[in-house]
Amino acid sequence: MSGPVGSSDAAPVPEGEAATAPVLQLEDSHEVAVGGVRVRRALPRRARRTVGAWCFADHMGPVDVTESSGLQIGAHPHIGLQTVTWLVDGQVLHRDSLGSEQVIRPGQLNLMTAGRGVSHAEEPTGRYAGPMHGVQLWVAQPSATRDGEPAFEHHGALPEVAVDGADVTVLVGALGSATSPARRDTDLMGAAVDLGPGGAVLPLVPAYEHLVVVLDGVLLLPDGRPVRPGQSAYLGVGRDELSLDAPDGARVLLLGGVPFDEQLVMWWNFVGRSREEVASYAEAWTAADDRFGTVATSLARIPAPPL
Ligand code: MN
Repeated sequence: MSGPVGSSDAAPVPEGEAATAPVLQLEDSHEVAVGGVRVRRALPRRARRTVGAWCFADHMGPVDVTESSGLQIGAHPHIGLQTVTWLVDGQVLHRDSLGSEQVIRPGQLNLMTAGRGVSHAEEPTGRYAGPMHGVQLWVAQPSATRDGEPAFEHHGALPEVAVDGADVTVLVGALGSATSPARRDTDLMGAAVDLGPGGAVLPLVPAYEHLVVVLDGVLLLPDGRPVRPGQSAYLGVGRDELSLDAPDGARVLLLGGVPFDEQLVMWWNFVGRSREEVASYAEAWTAADDRFGTVATSLARIPAPPL
């Protein structure tokens, strides 16, 4: 359940971008509808395409769904990225061209590595009605692995640790002493942080830049500015800790990583290195190239839009 990226999210040709100072910037997400569900897209934005190798961050819901309604995305392709799915509430059925058929529930992680090509679909399980709330993220694969084989991982449980009074679930990489078992191809981390009324001080890796995406509640930045759902705070490299304050409690997603130094071209469901490359990926999907396999779903296959 991810994508696609449109031209309103990020220009097809990347602009230069540096993240070298310990800045702190408040940013608004962009509202879009994905598979019938409203999402708030924190990445990519025109002003910021990546945080570490994180290149896409959708906050999905919360929205009430029924057994047959909710997120419905037919078979579509990916190349050159990993999709990372984590839910606060709800259920989603993932099927892919590797033969995976996996329901994801709150607290679990689905991580699909596209490499040279994969396709998948996401849909209701038919057994859940209630709130749907979660995140859908992409990680750009580095040149060392982006032409590699596709793969899928499901993690039924993730490391959960108390950090200075906050309840932290580590999705990818590490926070403090807790490390996720999920695959990662570059030096990055992602964690969900439940803040109590007392707030918390989290340890950061100084070589990372970070994005704090608010999922629930109101976060107060160290300078007193409030950050609400639909907003995020960007922190440049050079910090070794982050003080988070939420007088009424809050849930945030913390994404971090070493600034990604490869020039990316993101278009639709692809991450490449040039416009010609992503155009060739779309042509391959239209031609039903073998690299994408087939997905066992009754939902309609999604055609590539014109470049
Ligand atoms: Mn997808």
